[in-house]
Amino acid sequence: MIEHHKDLTSLTTFHVPAVAEQYCKVTTIDEARSVIQIAKEQKKSLKILGGGSNILLTKDLNSLVLHTCIDGMKTEVNTSTTLLTVNAGVEWHSLVSYCVENSLGGIENLALIPGFVGAAPIQNIGAYGVEIADVLESVTLLDLNTLEQYTLSNSECKFGYRDSIFKRSLAGKVLIVSVSLLLTNTNHKINYSYKDVALELELHSINTPTIADVFSAVVSVRKRKLPDPNVLGNAGSFFKNPVIPKTLLEEIQRQFPTIPSYKYDDENVKVAAAFLIENVGMKGYRSNEVGTHIHQPLVLVNYGNGTGGEVLELAHTIIEKVKSTFGITLQTEVNIW
Ligand SMILES: Cc1cc2nc3c(=O)[nH]c(=O)nc-3n(C[C@H](O)[C@H](O)[C@H](O)COP(=O)(O)OP(=O)(O)OC[C@H]3O[C@@H](n4cnc5c(N)ncnc54)[C@H](O)[C@@H]3O)c2cc1C
Repeated sequence: MIEHHKDLTSLTTFHVPAVAEQYCKVTTIDEARSVIQIAKEQKKSLKILGGGSNILLTKDLNSLVLHTCIDGMKTEVNTSTTLLTVNAGVEWHSLVSYCVENSLGGIENLALIPGFVGAAPIQNIGAYGVEIADVLESVTLLDLNTLEQYTLSNSECKFGYRDSIFKRSLAGKVLIVSVSLLLTNTNHKINYSYKDVALELELHSINTPTIADVFSAVVSVRKRKLPDPNVLGNAGSFFKNPVIPKTLLEEIQRQFPTIPSYKYDDENVKVAAAFLIENVGMKGYRSNEVGTHIHQPLVLVNYGNGTGGEVLELAHTIIEKVKSTFGITLQTEVNIW
């Protein structure tokens, strides 16, 4: 059923106010098809909402918001692997917990990432050395124009760092209805190369961690380092870590020798956006009801009564300061609506 003048404040993790002219929660593919059809007939722009953890609402929406809440999952167990086909409305962290409880390896490092499964391939969610692209077999889509269903393989999704075909040529053209992941039943590839995770395991004297150990370590680290959106409105990292030419890094290192950098390809490196923001004096910065988090400046926060416009203004200030100090243009990871 389509609702009119729907208040979206509680439907995104930034908890900023905005109203959608029309809104519909869908729980089946057929319902999704009907809503897409209505938007087409009414010539209304269609906006797809999942868990709302990667969206900043900056204004009221003259759109029909389709809230993808299609639940359910299919399991195909083989000798050494299990193929899980998970519908778009399943909560990502509950899927990760399910996998760990059932000894399925591959996504334990992605614990506690908010949001729904359907959005996970869009920015190729990643954390602590793992991305969904590492285990994703295929994505099933509804074409918003023809309403036909089709499937893309991993390579057809063109995954990159926080990037995929869904942010490029298919942006705004498809609804992701399910995601298939290929997980290990045994001989799990345990990844605890990230310093924070390794230190957490060391703290508990764990030398040969299981997937459950890695999961618990990631949960502890994230709880310690990142603000809980239910307490302090935010959408995780607001900016991507920029990829810059090695020559620019060398120039920056003359003044900032401790800048963290990671190999990207032969010519480019990825640098920590948090370092850049901290070094333009914006760590823990607060302007009225919005600011940057005191421990993690990459996370912009709403202290309670902030608006999307105020968050966006702060983002622009940060972009300008980083550009003038480092010559780097930060790009947003969060979707601005
Ligand atoms: C505290 C916190 C920590 C976070 N940590 C991480 C992290 O470690 N790594 C990481 O990668 N991300 C992180 N994020 C970002 C976010 O959780 C992910 O990007 C998540 O996948 C977004 O899912 P969602 O369902 O909330 O998407 P939404 O915010 O609802 O939507 C995001 C975008 O996807 C589109 N979309 C959503 N569902 C569909 C669908 N079914 N079909 C087509 N388009 C769709 C929307 O239109 C929108 O453009 C974090 C966010 C928070 C708040």
